[in-house]
Amino acid sequence: MKNGETRHVLVAGGAGFLGSHLCDALLAEGAHVVCLDNFGTGRRENLRHLAREPRFDLVEADVIGPLPTRLRADAVFNLACAASPPLYQADPEHTMLTNVVGTRNLLRLAEACGARFLQASTSEVYGDPESHPQAEGYWGNVNPTGPRACYDEGKRAAEALCFDFARAGRAEVRVARIFNTYGPRMRADDGRVVSNVVTQALAGEDITVYGDGCQTRSFCYASDMVEGLMRLMAHERARGGPPPGPVNLGNPVELSVAELVERVVALTGTRSAVVNRPLPEDDPRRRRPDISRAAALLGWAPRTPLETGLRATIAWFAEERRPERAAPLP
Ligand code: NAD
Ligand code: UDP
Repeated sequence: MKNGETRHVLVAGGAGFLGSHLCDALLAEGAHVVCLDNFGTGRRENLRHLAREPRFDLVEADVIGPLPTRLRADAVFNLACAASPPLYQADPEHTMLTNVVGTRNLLRLAEACGARFLQASTSEVYGDPESHPQAEGYWGNVNPTGPRACYDEGKRAAEALCFDFARAGRAEVRVARIFNTYGPRMRADDGRVVSNVVTQALAGEDITVYGDGCQTRSFCYASDMVEGLMRLMAHERARGGPPPGPVNLGNPVELSVAELVERVVALTGTRSAVVNRPLPEDDPRRRRPDISRAAALLGWAPRTPLETGLRATIAWFAEERRPERAAPLP
């Protein structure tokens, strides 16, 4: 691409929570953005503000393919895959194929266009980790036959494909291992802990804690994550040097699910009761990213404190709940 030319970026999964924020950030940088999505878990509302944006196009398609032949890009972000456990387990075969066949299709597109490719991988590749915090060198502890395997093993296979394409010189790839991320545009019904707890607190309904609530996660705010993804895509390897391996992106501040619930209760002032429900099978006990590689390679670290991010998320969900918002859109 020559200097001054508009960059064409394909965002697969661009109608989802993270993908739609990424589309916004890329457009703000001046790129032409094509969002490819099957609207399995993504929402048209997430893109409605872009309806009149001349540098934005929407292609409704499934990455399992075949992909529309007209697609061209200088850079391909692959975020296509349901991320919430209940949603990705609803059709596990489709989740696995999205990760394997879908990633292959997009890698082949990147190869054909000479585009750089960024894969949205996940901390789930570490499974229920025996090493803590998790650094990229840790190979993980994943149950290959459990209900989360369609996602965890699918994402592991997708990483393998990415590095095979890179080794063969077929595409320049970047792999981000994304840890739990939250913020506006999460679906209220997606079953993840932040969306569940915030919507339950706002509705005055029982707040569901799975297990005893001692399991930990590390929550990163969406805008920090999008910045990390864009920096990783832009990262140039040293001349003749090896391509970067996978890079953890997440917030190293770790807290238990019970502590997260306490924060949301305090910030919303809800009178909701907290109720315990069975812990889902293979639910990881703890998770915290070691982000030294991202810091060294990209100069990146999350900047948004949990309280700030939770306040913005709560405000967004509160706005979504207003009765006039629930009316069908014209
Ligand atoms: P999301 O469910 O909101 O977004 C996923 C998007 O991909 C949706 O718009 C969905 O419709 C689309 N999609 C799914 N399967 C598709 C297919 N076969 N063809 C075309 N489109 C398809 O989830 P999210 O939280 O925005 O996550 C985005 C990506 O980041 C996912 O790949 C996910 O695995 C990864 N990730 C997210 C988190 C997180 O905490 N949010 C953590 C780790 C990894
Ligand atoms: N969780 C919970 N209550 C809920 C939803 C989730 O206690 O209403 C727990 C879940 O069991 C897990 C943690 O919160 O231990 C994070 O769950 P999430 O689905 O958000 O992400 P993941 O398990 O993929 O990290």
